[in-house]
Amino acid sequence: MKIRVMSENLANKIAAGEVVEKCASVVKELVENAIDASSTHIKVNLEDGGLKKIEVIDDGSGMDRDDACLAFARHATSKIYKDDDLYFIETLGFRGEALASIASVSEVNMLTCSGEVGTHIHIKGGVMDKVEDAQARVGTTITITNLFYNTPARLKYLKSEVTEANNCIRYIEKLALSKPDIAFTLTNNDRVAVKSSGSGNLLKCIHEIYGLNTSSNMLEIVASDDDFEISGFVSKPSVLKKNRNHLNTIVNGRVVRNNEINRAINDAYNTYKHEGFYPVVVIQIETDPTLIDVNIHPTKQDIKISKIENLEKLLYNTIKKALYDNLLVPNALVDESLNNVNTDFDEFRYIASNVNDATIIQTKLDFTEPKEIKDISADKNAELKTLNLYPVGQVHGTYIIAEDENSMYILDQHAAHERVNYEMIKKKFHDSEVTITDMLVPLSIELSTSDYNTFMENKSVLDELGFKIEEFGINTIIIKSHPTWLTKNFEGDNLKSIVDLVISSGKNFNKDKFLDSLAKMVSCKMSVKANEHLSFAEMDKLLKDLVKCDNPYNCCHGRPSIMRFSSYELEKMFKRVI
Ligand code: ZN
Ligand code: ZN
Repeated sequence: MKIRVMSENLANKIAAGEVVEKCASVVKELVENAIDASSTHIKVNLEDGGLKKIEVIDDGSGMDRDDACLAFARHATSKIYKDDDLYFIETLGFRGEALASIASVSEVNMLTCSGEVGTHIHIKGGVMDKVEDAQARVGTTITITNLFYNTPARLKYLKSEVTEANNCIRYIEKLALSKPDIAFTLTNNDRVAVKSSGSGNLLKCIHEIYGLNTSSNMLEIVASDDDFEISGFVSKPSVLKKNRNHLNTIVNGRVVRNNEINRAINDAYNTYKHEGFYPVVVIQIETDPTLIDVNIHPTKQDIKISKIENLEKLLYNTIKKALYDNLLVPNALVDESLNNVNTDFDEFRYIASNVNDATIIQTKLDFTEPKEIKDISADKNAELKTLNLYPVGQVHGTYIIAEDENSMYILDQHAAHERVNYEMIKKKFHDSEVTITDMLVPLSIELSTSDYNTFMENKSVLDELGFKIEEFGINTIIIKSHPTWLTKNFEGDNLKSIVDLVISSGKNFNKDKFLDSLAKMVSCKMSVKANEHLSFAEMDKLLKDLVKCDNPYNCCHGRPSIMRFSSYELEKMFKRVI
């Protein structure tokens, strides 16, 4: 057979594009080929984060000699040959092109066998200089060394060993979550960084990738509409991360990135979590492939989805309901070894991870019936919704100690009061009748011309809420009355901030988002602060009001408002029980 090698110049140009930009792109291409070959076990071995060596071993169907040679010479077989055609190669992201470009900027050894005689191929700088029979089991082992050795300009774009390794780890983690039925192992310098068992059980896979603290705090979701089926797991608000890396969305089996999907997920956690924190989410979305355009980016992670608004709504409502159904008072005592909620350990994860931990913890969790976890929390929730709390006292003018027959509770008085006010105001927004108070002294506010214009443009939203605001000279407004949920003592402060909020909501004014921000802002300002003395009657009222809330467990910014110490935990603390 005749092997033609593409022009090295063209190959390097492709490699310099986005197809191969880091070690993880090489890993991605090799591993995707392994998946396409129906592998059930895929092992990735890195040396120095892939800078020195990237090896992918699979137990897939393997290749005979002809296919093996063609795999690296796809350019030679396609009609795309001229440098001018490069644009199309990049925009369409042809499979196979990447393998050829990897081979053109590195040294490749491939050992593959489809059942009969194995083949060994050696390529350096795109030149296939050895094709020979070899002893091999069925499957493929491909080893890339000296990446970018002949393109120094690209070489210097490679990051440090830690960064390259972490990129590979993140990629394999996401891939493992998208293919729970394939066993993945990733090692760096012989240390295991990712290991999944390929059990086919998604919750077990989440456990293997993210650990016990995460897997034991996941809520299962399942829902569908006419076009989309969604299923998977979302973390309780007690497990949050400082970055979006743990938002895993898988569309028709492929890990994808889509801002609208991420936003819908994030919005569903509104008031359940702090701004700037993100949940751990693994969601599989199944839909008609004609609704998806995967080719808007050559790395194929970004996708465009038709009817995205329907999908957003489905995700938002499903996750929101799952969170609401599983509201819980967080237990104050958490096993310290598991308490990594706020630690950003990602950077060193590949050093810290270790297979043995995973296998030991595994025995503590039973994955056979993931529904069980959900049912237990639903029961607990019903019980907690009927809490009958009595105040015991106030600590440092900031915290309230309360009790019932079974537990002791500590509340953050501001967070608790803020939650009560937030829900009260949100309800008032929907009341058909608005009660209004006239200001004793109307408040006039002078604005800059542009602020004035922006404000007048969106002022109607305040009119609807019952505010009476009129023009009062040049660039000046006057507020004459406001709805009564805005308590008298706080009107001065609040009214200025409300006007500011309308202005800062600006051009792309979104009414729902504005009303939510408004409720958050006003409830915070109207709530009792730290270092404020409360009488027993006030504490009692706050406790009673809080328990009645839809979500008594967080302030509207996601901070906890109440913590529980069960009698058992207290007994354990004081060694009354062991
Ligand atoms: Zn606040
Ligand atoms: Zn708050």
